Amino acid sequence: MDVKKKDIRALTKEQLRDFFIKEGDEAFRGNQVYEWLWSKSAYSFEDMTNISKETRQMLEDNFVINHIKVDTMQRSSDGTVKNAVRLHDGLIVESVLIPTPTRTTACVSSQVGCSLDCSFCATSRLKRMRNLNPDEIYDQVVAIDNESRLYFNRPLSNIVFMGMGEPLMNYNNVIKAIDKITSPEGLGMSPKRIVVSTSGVPKMIKKMADDEVKFNLAVSLHSAIDEVRTSIMPFNETFPLKDLQEALEYWYEKTKKAITYEYIVWKGINDSLKDIEALVKFCKYVPCKVNIIEYNPIDDGAFQQASNQAIEDYIRVLERNNIVVNVRRSRGKDIDAACGQLANKS
Ligand code: SAH
Repeated sequence: MDVKKKDIRALTKEQLRDFFIKEGDEAFRGNQVYEWLWSKSAYSFEDMTNISKETRQMLEDNFVINHIKVDTMQRSSDGTVKNAVRLHDGLIVESVLIPTPTRTTACVSSQVGCSLDCSFCATSRLKRMRNLNPDEIYDQVVAIDNESRLYFNRPLSNIVFMGMGEPLMNYNNVIKAIDKITSPEGLGMSPKRIVVSTSGVPKMIKKMADDEVKFNLAVSLHSAIDEVRTSIMPFNETFPLKDLQEALEYWYEKTKKAITYEYIVWKGINDSLKDIEALVKFCKYVPCKVNIIEYNPIDDGAFQQASNQAIEDYIRVLERNNIVVNVRRSRGKDIDAACGQLANKS
């Protein structure tokens, strides 16, 4: 790559319009190019057929389009598709297409690796290498939208930020990507169909509330007892449950949006009545629902899915307390595409 050339998709529409004015062209040309770059996802300047040859050459001389490339695509027996996506600098992240009879969900990554150290998650074994740029997040969504149209004859319907990385540790870029995804000039998707999942960074949850974001929030809780949570999610030491609770109360007050708690039940870790009672108490702070997720083993076997009995106990006690609870089965396990399994085995 020529180092002097700039990434054209780092420019806002305004900057692109200004660029054309400075070139002695019309601002409108900026709109045209912007449309090619985003809603039409052009991979090269050559594709921009309503732009003159000279202008395309001029763009070529000044800029690059850093598109992601789907390196390998694996299809699971249950229809799940996993993309290993190569970035312009050669690093790889993974994203997953999850089909159900009525929808197609894209599970996208926000960072290369992750800086958190959740001991049950395969991604934590990779150090955080860098944040993804807005266009790299956007492109994962476009790739899955294309695959959904190709394999399932329908567009993408939902997006979850539950791939690699902690989205709130790359907040600005995630927000910029979501702006593009939801803008009519991008994919025009409703923010109601987007879920950002976080391990719970209190300061950033408050920031999101202040920014009046319109997407939904999920929190990977896994335990409502500090001691237990810190033992499996060490950053809980820095951001204890009390701070998380306070941030979530602030979120709800500002947005009036209920929270989804993601929760895995492990044998011997959080499968006692005490754990259930702590969760019930935590659920009373802010309107919420609980998704119990099936544990996907990652190699070393230190964690084991709790017994069905323990999960039934959770469901019974939560329901008795009028808390909505769903049990989520994992998809795409045979291709390491399920939650917590994204770690670039290839
Ligand atoms: N960092 C963000 C998003 C990535 S993790 C977050 O923590 O929410 C997406 C979800 O997968 C989280 O709820 C996470 O706790 C869960 N997860 C991680 N490892 C898992 C595993 N081995 N089995 C099942 N779910 C897992």
